[in-house]
Amino acid sequence: ASVPADISLADLPLREDLRGEQPYGAPQPDVPVRLNVNENPYPPSATVIAEIAAAVAEATASINRYPDREFLALRAELGRFLTADSGGGLVRLEPENIWAANGSNEIMQQLLQAFGGPGRTALSFAPTYSMYPEYARNTHTRWVVGHRAADFSIDTAHAVGLISQHRPSVVILTSPNNPTGTALPLETVRAVLAIAPGVVIVDEAYAEFRRDGVPSAVSLLPAHPRLIVTRTMSKAFAYAGGRLGYLAATRAVVDAVRIVRLPYHLSAVAQAAAHAALSHRSEALARVQDLRSARDDTITWLREHGFSAADSDANFVLFGRFRDRHSRWQGLLDRGVLIRETGPDGWLRVSVGTTAEMAAFRAALLQVAPGGN
Ligand code: PMP
Repeated sequence: ASVPADISLADLPLREDLRGEQPYGAPQPDVPVRLNVNENPYPPSATVIAEIAAAVAEATASINRYPDREFLALRAELGRFLTADSGGGLVRLEPENIWAANGSNEIMQQLLQAFGGPGRTALSFAPTYSMYPEYARNTHTRWVVGHRAADFSIDTAHAVGLISQHRPSVVILTSPNNPTGTALPLETVRAVLAIAPGVVIVDEAYAEFRRDGVPSAVSLLPAHPRLIVTRTMSKAFAYAGGRLGYLAATRAVVDAVRIVRLPYHLSAVAQAAAHAALSHRSEALARVQDLRSARDDTITWLREHGFSAADSDANFVLFGRFRDRHSRWQGLLDRGVLIRETGPDGWLRVSVGTTAEMAAFRAALLQVAPGGN
């Protein structure tokens, strides 16, 4: 007998606050040019593929056993990368200062499980990453959202006022911000840390793409024990399919997250593959330089052709402004170029792809929006 197909969500004892909700996710159609989820467009080389495959094969030899719950070797390597990335060794990160999970999405949900919860508030500033309210919902955390200024920066007085009013146990700042590309000055982070009664998360998923001279909040970790910086291998490391996100913070923060993590959440295969990819990071990180240049060129090109484009420290560009952005998005898709309809009304977001992909994007855009609107 088959399983009944006429049962709908309405027939189930679903949590009341989940009724009417949809699973999050951008469409995944099979089109030639995919510039919609801020992936790194360059797959690993044959050499790196072989190294990752060999590491996975080795891990498979003991796959009858549960994986190492603490994965300190991987955490040590992530710490070494972050130390190097954030100002040449000024901040020393021990393995115990690092925690990892299946993407920074899981990291963020673990943080809200540990520091949010019923009767507590998480606060951020929109437009920003659309998953945050879902982590809050999933953990029964009240969600409060402030606003960003017209240039997508966060006004410090507004942030301080809102935090004083709501006393959130979690503040999420995103730098560079998705979908706007805006990096936060460290003064803003410091002002928030000074007033926030709980933890302050700086989501640096795109930090490796920041422009020269833009600092990482990692440099604030020694002086700020309630600061948590999250990163991911999905973007700069060209490892979105591998699912590996991580955080840097005090050992106490890591201990808090270890209470709520599922046992063995990071599989032996995931650990081995991530460690191998990380050991060969120079290849992917060299591409980051190309992507940064391509991003800057894209912004220049958009502005020269009558579009508005937000400054970006990430691997994507928010541009517009369109009276009917949906028709522009659809027009690009009809020409085989998938971008993202997100952000404030009138704007669209394009991820930075390969040279050929960006040429296809520019050609299609000139067809669907000649004159920049
Ligand atoms: N933070 C931000 C700001 C993001 O844009 C994303 C991915 N789109 C993530 C976190 C999550 O990335 P992942 O789970 O792949 O690490």
